[in-house]
Amino acid sequence: MEDDSTISYLRQNIGQDGFNVTGVLLAEAEALKYAGQRVRLAIRQEYEHDYDAAEEEEEAATDASQQQSARRRRTQSTAVPAKVVESFGFADKDAGKEAIPGRANVTISSVIFLISYCGYRNYHTVESFRKMWLNEPSTTTDAMTMQNYISYCSQGAARMTNSSQRIFAVDLPCTGGSGKNAFNFNTSCEDPELYGMMSMADSIVRNTYGASISYVKQRIAVLPDYAHTTCRWGGLAQVGCSGDRCYTWINAAASPRVFLHEMLHNFGLHHAGRLGDPWEYADYSCVMGIGDTCPNAAQLWRLSWALPLPGGDLNGTTLQVGRRITFTLPVQNKAPQSYVRIYASWMWDPPPYTVWWSPDAYPAHALLVSFRSKEEPFELFDNDKNNQVLIHSFNGTQYAGSAQKTLLRSALNKPNQEFRDDSFSGLVFKVLSISPGLSAVVSICRSGGPQEAQGGNSCGDGLDNDCDGLTPRRPPRPPPRPPRPPRPPPRPSWFRLGVPRPQPARPA
Ligand SMILES: [Zn+2]
Repeated sequence: MEDDSTISYLRQNIGQDGFNVTGVLLAEAEALKYAGQRVRLAIRQEYEHDYDAAEEEEEAATDASQQQSARRRRTQSTAVPAKVVESFGFADKDAGKEAIPGRANVTISSVIFLISYCGYRNYHTVESFRKMWLNEPSTTTDAMTMQNYISYCSQGAARMTNSSQRIFAVDLPCTGGSGKNAFNFNTSCEDPELYGMMSMADSIVRNTYGASISYVKQRIAVLPDYAHTTCRWGGLAQVGCSGDRCYTWINAAASPRVFLHEMLHNFGLHHAGRLGDPWEYADYSCVMGIGDTCPNAAQLWRLSWALPLPGGDLNGTTLQVGRRITFTLPVQNKAPQSYVRIYASWMWDPPPYTVWWSPDAYPAHALLVSFRSKEEPFELFDNDKNNQVLIHSFNGTQYAGSAQKTLLRSALNKPNQEFRDDSFSGLVFKVLSISPGLSAVVSICRSGGPQEAQGGNSCGDGLDNDCDGLTPRRPPRPPPRPPRPPRPPPRPSWFRLGVPRPQPARPA
């Protein structure tokens, strides 16, 4: 960056010689607005003469090597002031996404049991379930099927296929078993019923249908209508999938969002809450909360379905106190690298403790900033929550046993709004501009505290130590009290979590 201008290098795909690169100068605001997008540029008129002169030099060269040499001179030495005259949107999100290191590339395999018992029929037949679950040749990519939903939210990093999804209808006896395994679907919905239905369905499918399913870890039982009388939840799932099996139970008719919520528990995700609301599902921007949406940025990072922007995975080394970094965030689910994550390593490095069930699952306090826009039918936001810059905190790691809740800390939707994490990391996020449905420009600054004076020469070091955008002139004041490290949460290695029963006003 030089003064008020930013140099971007544009590549013309003319040849493989690597010399067809022309530097262009764009005004910083314009460069930020269109970062990551394919644009048509016009050379600013006052500089067109110089550019033409270089072309004349090339044309005047008499042989191929002279032309090549002239082209090199032109492309390497001339940074041309330009302006954007047309945007074609963000560069093809499908281009090369498989090649991004660290991004998930998985085919989801599941066995689905459509269960009936005690004369209670299942809401679905295999055919109707398949229609909700998988695409047919005529299904468009914007139709709400589970296959499309997962493909959209993961931008193709996770896939379901016809052959990876095995669907069976099974009819079970109403009562049976003995001792502690005795079950009665009419009166109870405890472990004997929940695990009993899984093992009975498994043997029916193997013995009656002759199907080989033992290689599939994820088992999804869809309970019959009226199961609500005994099973008082909308869905239930094991968190994580470290053993031979991981189980999900869905209570009767449910939307793909309930299925995705429970399946993502199997993939290790916990719930998504919101600061100031004790309800652990209160995050409206996450399917692991109350959202009719994809996962939030923290959960996407946990899944590696999308990665931080290039240069957007920061820590105490790459983000020094008082330095401001500006990012253009595309809409979260429109680019495989779409958000910024800042691991507050300066707060605990090395981590002050590990959690007892896994030395690799130490909490890693990170803040993530993302930009979210409505896109039907997968990302549904009310008007007042559309086009928001969201800041989430997340203490989890990407280790399989690390199950931590995410927390929506702040939602910003206007230029100059900012969020200061003065209580812990000192990070300051500020919205510079928002292009609805397209992108948001935010600046991120790591303050040493809410005041400029932080001891030593902090007021005269030329840095904006409190990230208020002002040059310090005030007399020193005492530094703020250092924050307390949080307590480790006790938690077993795996456990079951449900979603609330579906309600008309607030679908789970
Ligand atoms: Zn849940």
